[in-house]
This record gives sequence, structure tokens and C-alpha cells, in this order.
Amino acid sequence: MEPSTTINPAQAEAERKAEEATRALAARFDAEKEAARIEPFDASQILEWAFEQFGEDIYIACSFQKTSSVVMHLATEVNPNARFFYLDTDFLFPETYETRDRLAGHFNVDFERWHNITPEEQARQFGDQLWKTDPDACCGIRKVDPMRRALSTVDAWVAGIRREDSATRAGSPKFMWDKKFDIWKFNPIADWTERDVWTHLHKHGIPYNPLHDQGYPSIGCTHCTRPVLPGQSSRDGRWSGSGKTECGIN
Ligand code: SF4
Repeated sequence: MEPSTTINPAQAEAERKAEEATRALAARFDAEKEAARIEPFDASQILEWAFEQFGEDIYIACSFQKTSSVVMHLATEVNPNARFFYLDTDFLFPETYETRDRLAGHFNVDFERWHNITPEEQARQFGDQLWKTDPDACCGIRKVDPMRRALSTVDAWVAGIRREDSATRAGSPKFMWDKKFDIWKFNPIADWTERDVWTHLHKHGIPYNPLHDQGYPSIGCTHCTRPVLPGQSSRDGRWSGSGKTECGIN
């Protein structure tokens, strides 16, 4: 039997309105022109401009790695009411959850938690150890889907990525239209070096994830993160041994 092609009118109208809203949001700026204009801004100036443009409709993503600590500090200095969220994959390191709690206390903020089905439900539906059999699917369920839901509530988001993180991030502008999620994205510390990050953390006494002092330059889920060896790049400890380099968010 042929599948039904009946379109629910209410659903079609909702989709039309959502597409219209996305088009209007995308038309607010000429992405390339604005990115070039604000490239000389420092990270605090980028965040000031971001809050001026988007007010409360901007969400700051936190992975509880060292760059999250920096961005949190800069953002709360500019706007004490800044909103922060994180993706809880249920597979984060205990040190990462502890860092979350220390940062919440240090900056007096609440993190909004976004997540998906439990690991048990995932195993039931998709098989055991999906991170080994199909890591893209696992990241899709545990990261990309909750990210999409989180970002559907705002017009812009802030990430802590840096150009020197990896080849795939080398061309990241400080401001861009994020086609993956159909909203605006800020990368305020895109041009920071590793040294800039550590200097800032130590100068201001900001809490950071202790795994960074144990050989983990980049920290994700327990199943897919390992310490790196001297001479390896900071991202070599993520999905080691597979061709995967990103979880699908940045
Ligand atoms: S990083 Fe690994 S465990 Fe975490 S969501 Fe992706 S594949 Fe799954």
C-alpha cells in the first residue's frame, strides 16, 4: 500500500511559519560583512555586541572544558544575567560534573541541562555500545538532538571553539550564520591561543576541569576521550583510532 501523503494543515502552517521566522532571522545581518567588521573586536567586545543584538535570546554553550571557564568569566562580566546550558550525554567524566558545580558556585549561575534518552534505553533501541558500532549515531542521539532542541529556543548561541583547535576549526569566524541549527553563532575566543587561555584562567583564579592537568587537552565523553601523548595535537584524544573528529555540533 502507498504511504499516505495527506498533509495536516495545522502542521503545514506551523512549518511555514517556522521557515518564515528562520528566513527573517537569517536576513538580520550580512554574515560575511559583520564578521569582517567585528573581527578586530576582542572577546569581551564581541560578547557586548552579541548581547546588544540578541538580548535574552542568546544561549552560551558549556562543555566544562577550559575554554568554557574563560567564556563564562567574560560573559558574566559583560552580562550577569547571561544564560548558560550544557548537553548532558550521561557519559561525562565525574571531574566534568564537579567542574560544572564549581563553576556554578563561582559565577553564581544555573546551567540549563539538555539531554536525551537514558543509556539503557539507547542500548535497548540501538544496541550495546553504540559509541563503538556507530559513534555518529551515538553523538546524534546524545548531543546533536538535544542541541537542536536547546537552540530552537533562542536566536543565537556562543561557543568556545578556537581556530588553533584543529584544521576543521581554522577558518571559524567570530560571527556566523550557523546552517546546522539555523541560528546565529558567536565564537568570541576564535583567535585565542592555548597560552591566552591559560594566562586568563590563572590571572583571574577561575576554576577549570582538572583533567586538563592529567593529559587531557580536550574532554568529551568517557567512552571517546583519552589523554594524548607528547607531540600529539589536542584533538588526538577524541574518538582516537577512528576517522571521526567532531561530534556534529561545531
Ligand atoms: S562522544 Fe562518544 S559516547 Fe559521547 S555521544 Fe559521541 S559517540 Fe556517544
